[in-house]
Amino acid sequence: MAKITQVEVFKFIQPPRKPQPGVKPDWDRPNYGRMAYITTKSMPRLKHTYNVKTNKGVLTDKPGAGGAAVVKITTEDGIYGYGSTGLYNIAAPFIENVLKPLILGLDAMEIEKIWDVMFRVTSMYGRKGLVIQGISAVDIALWDIMGKTMGLPVYQLLGGKVRDKIKVYATGNDLERYARLGYKANKIPAPAGPGSGREGVKLNVLAAERVAKIMGDDAEIMYDCWQGWDIEFTVKVCKELKREGLNVRWIEEPLMADDIQGHRRLKDLLNPMGILVTTGEHEFTRWGARELIDAQATDILQCDIWYSGGISEIRKIIAYAKAHNVIVVPHCHGMPVFHVSISSLQSPFAETLLLDSEDTARLFLGEPPVIDGYIDVPDTPGLGYELNYDWGYMEEFHKG
Ligand SMILES: [Mg+2]
Repeated sequence: MAKITQVEVFKFIQPPRKPQPGVKPDWDRPNYGRMAYITTKSMPRLKHTYNVKTNKGVLTDKPGAGGAAVVKITTEDGIYGYGSTGLYNIAAPFIENVLKPLILGLDAMEIEKIWDVMFRVTSMYGRKGLVIQGISAVDIALWDIMGKTMGLPVYQLLGGKVRDKIKVYATGNDLERYARLGYKANKIPAPAGPGSGREGVKLNVLAAERVAKIMGDDAEIMYDCWQGWDIEFTVKVCKELKREGLNVRWIEEPLMADDIQGHRRLKDLLNPMGILVTTGEHEFTRWGARELIDAQATDILQCDIWYSGGISEIRKIIAYAKAHNVIVVPHCHGMPVFHVSISSLQSPFAETLLLDSEDTARLFLGEPPVIDGYIDVPDTPGLGYELNYDWGYMEEFHKG
């Protein structure tokens, strides 16, 4: 018995982005990360442009700032684990007010049971979105505790390494730096959408040409479209990319996440060109993933460990994907992804998100460096990371 005696919840606001001389920002847009989905004002070139103000107080207190909700769970033996998710401003009170009272006093080693308790208690209003993100953070922290208790890295608990190192791709625009680090794969934050018409098609092709020029003709190219394209625009871009002989591997989330049939139709159109269609970043649990797989809506499944239910749930998702011969490349960057990827035959490729500056500290310390386009995972017990309390602006969440 490793009784859970303490659950601390922290909100972190991402530090302001400081432009570094000679370093291109990861994302070519005024806002960062999730905000772009909601405040389409920040992506005026997409098809749908709304004059929506920043979601102040919902996702972030500071326009342009991202953040994280972090949970630190401690057992009666003094062993602690960390888990995190996005949406700090609303995930933190949910974890504090709903999940914390549920899990205090339970055995931290009974991860499968705790997941089920959290899911069932919240199922009348949960099952997707924010609730599952909160559950994901708790689940990840419990795996960290399990590893530390056993004295083993989490990848060992998941079955051990199936490869020595993981091939990674870089999402962003800082191509010279990626080339320097040996990357041979880049995901382009789509610079334009259907709202930009023919000019938008050209801008996307130019972006891929830049990747080929800097990272090499053999570098794999992917596009992240943030649910902002449509079928016609996607087909036009892909035809141009093929005409130019560019090495495009996948088009990610071109349509709204719920448009399962639309992704399926696009797959039928793009696969004959040798281009894959991917989605799943905004899907939740084994049941959401099953829908995408059963509908044959995605060539590669991209469920996010911090969103879709944590390490416990991604294992189930990967098992189902494996039975259907679908590769899983989890969305996002961090130790949970690296431990899962290095121990899964079904996940031979992982995403990395580099920071604006090579010496900018991360929310979690201890992540392995990218060497020649690959990363290895150290054998530190647990997830092998420590919370960086100095990252951005930290606030401990207090009830009431
Ligand atoms: Mg994406």
